[in-house]
Amino acid sequence: MTATDTQFAQHLSTQRKSAEEREAVLANPGFGNFFTDHTAIVDFRVDESGVGGWHDARLEPYGPIALDPAAAVLHYGQEIFEGMKAYRHADGSVWTFRADANAARLNRSAARLALPQLPEELFLESLRQLVSADSDWIPSGDGESLYLRPFMIATEAFLGVRPAREVSYRVIASPAGNYFGGEVKPVDIWVSRNYARAGRGGTGAAKAGGNYASSLAAQLEAEAHGCKQVLFLDQFNDNAVEELGGMNVFFVFRDGSLVTPALSGTILEGVTRSSIIQLGRDRGLQVSERKITLDEWRDGVASGDITEVFACGTAAVITPIGQLRDGDDFIGSAGAPAGEVTMSIRSQLLGIQTGVVEDTHGWLTRLV
Ligand SMILES: *Cc1c(COP(=O)(O)O)cnc(C)c1O
Repeated sequence: MTATDTQFAQHLSTQRKSAEEREAVLANPGFGNFFTDHTAIVDFRVDESGVGGWHDARLEPYGPIALDPAAAVLHYGQEIFEGMKAYRHADGSVWTFRADANAARLNRSAARLALPQLPEELFLESLRQLVSADSDWIPSGDGESLYLRPFMIATEAFLGVRPAREVSYRVIASPAGNYFGGEVKPVDIWVSRNYARAGRGGTGAAKAGGNYASSLAAQLEAEAHGCKQVLFLDQFNDNAVEELGGMNVFFVFRDGSLVTPALSGTILEGVTRSSIIQLGRDRGLQVSERKITLDEWRDGVASGDITEVFACGTAAVITPIGQLRDGDDFIGSAGAPAGEVTMSIRSQLLGIQTGVVEDTHGWLTRLV
């Protein structure tokens, strides 16, 4: 198969969920609990002459993956993923947001994890194919969407340590309600002092499953302290704020300016983060990507210079941060209401995604 051959064979399910079962799921999808009837797959192989290529693009019924127990992904974690959403607009059409940015990031992650580059047209077509086959699964309630999870795994059965010569790229889809459930409530955040998610030269800027595996112990610690999420710091750099386990962070200052930690190689470059930077500038706000330390956060909240703090990512879009807990030290107050700027940017972004606010940047791609 050549890079531009994006024909997907259609091995469609003969056991689709009934309309009744589907409606029951869509009535309360939550996040990541239920999956649609199909999965899109493209496999990759390096042949004897050392030339790699993608082959056998297809749609298959959703179901377990048969993997050799020696598959490299099971031993050395050679895996990357993406997260994006498909939204149904009022006219019935289905759109996704900044898919080109996700395609580019998948390939940056692939380069870091020594996985093959996936042509952007194949990436886009895989989303189109899956969403077309399973378009009945897109919930249309307020803030609801079909979450798309493209991922790439090393499937070669080989225990030597080198990049796998057989790889599988797949997409699954999961109807999504509101990430943290119902209303937009500020979440309390735990500062991780015992664990880091990324180090200099590591994989922090790649969307790799291993980063999430290494964040779970910190997540447990957060939960033991009554917090939903973890903030990771660069503790070698004056306690510079990095990001949450799966979301970037923004600060709103009293003068209206926005600050988000600069990309340093240890922070994941969120598509939501880039979009908020652009929307902030569109509003005439000063937006800086710079180092911001825990001390500046603490002092800024105390003096009133920092008025709002929020987290952002595809799954939850924008979530206000309530209280930050650093051991026995607290920053901000629990139960503070969501900030005005936070909620205004959130509704603008969601509005663009759901087709009720004009998409002046050409960020939407029609899937169906
Ligand atoms: C996916 C992810 C984000 C958010 O990225 P979006 O493209 O906005 O969804 C932030 N941090 C980490 C570690 C992530 O994996």
